Amino acid sequence: MDPASGLCEGCLRTIDEIASWGSLSDASRLAVLEAINARRKPPTTSKQAPAADVRLLCDASSHPDWPNQLRFIQRDWLSCNSVLIFDDQQGATLFDSGYIKHAQNTRDQLRQMLEGTRLHRLINTHLHSDHCGANALIQQSFDCELLVPAASFDAVRLWDEQALSFQATGQRCQRFLADASIKPGDLITCGELCWEAYAAPGHDPKSLIFFEASKALLISADALWAEGFGVIFPELEGESGFEEQAAMLDLIEFLQPRWIFPGHGPAFADVDQALAIARKRLAAMHHAPAKHARHALKVLLKFLMLDLEWADRAALEKHLAGATLLGACAKQMGMAANDALHGAIDELIAQGALRCEGTRLFNDDHRRT
Ligand SMILES: [Zn+2]
Repeated sequence: MDPASGLCEGCLRTIDEIASWGSLSDASRLAVLEAINARRKPPTTSKQAPAADVRLLCDASSHPDWPNQLRFIQRDWLSCNSVLIFDDQQGATLFDSGYIKHAQNTRDQLRQMLEGTRLHRLINTHLHSDHCGANALIQQSFDCELLVPAASFDAVRLWDEQALSFQATGQRCQRFLADASIKPGDLITCGELCWEAYAAPGHDPKSLIFFEASKALLISADALWAEGFGVIFPELEGESGFEEQAAMLDLIEFLQPRWIFPGHGPAFADVDQALAIARKRLAAMHHAPAKHARHALKVLLKFLMLDLEWADRAALEKHLAGATLLGACAKQMGMAANDALHGAIDELIAQGALRCEGTRLFNDDHRRT
């Protein structure tokens, strides 16, 4: 059953339609079948959102400064970027796998990029759904070892969807099994490259980033992007995160990476500029936490709509009733959950990030927003 639409994902019928199917007259069954047809094709207009974008945006492996065994795979939202590192001895290592919606595309692209090399290891920087949603399929397809941050290992073992944030955000992730864990200070060797794990609290208290000292390369996950960083999730629930994020930025400045491979957006070399942008943004969040919560609520909503593509507004609200993080955002904003949600949806519509037709919401083409 799709929680957002209230329809069976296989036959597109409601629970009532399924339950009463056996006792319906031919005419009633025909009416249901016609309704299913209409559901299968939501009303289209020239502004209809395209299917989720699964392009690999960039494989700039030919950059002269980069080790030739490293491929940076820049993805469009919903999936995070990945870093693929080849090693003649062991095979390849992949950092992060992307969102579940793109899992097959990720697997197929990876297969092409590997060109027969064995993928022997998948490592997650952290376990937000856009970083680990293709884990299960990649594990099945490549029979690789999976390593997750030590702080999340038990939650994965028990598949505690609340602790893993999927329940709190209303996002999806297929269950996977972790083979081992990585903690700060651990070293990951990929051929000549040796990556040290660092704790990266702020965006996610359990996150890691990875620094390769000999070439000064940093896999920065959502701690630093070219233009900002991820939502500071602990602050939404009234816990400290801004201070930790400030310390993260100081650590990255201390490491002085020559190249940064972030969780979202392009790889970049101008670390000073990225740090300046990030510090300015962090100061603004610190100054106005309610604004940060409103931004977070909109990010979470847009993410859901990128996944769903379209949804009945009422069904979406029902789906979000169990997403505790949205309630936490509303609390930070000093608003009732429903009011905050309506306000955020209206704002996304006004910004052109969502579109409303009757009772339905559509994810608009995010490349034009
Ligand atoms: Zn994240």
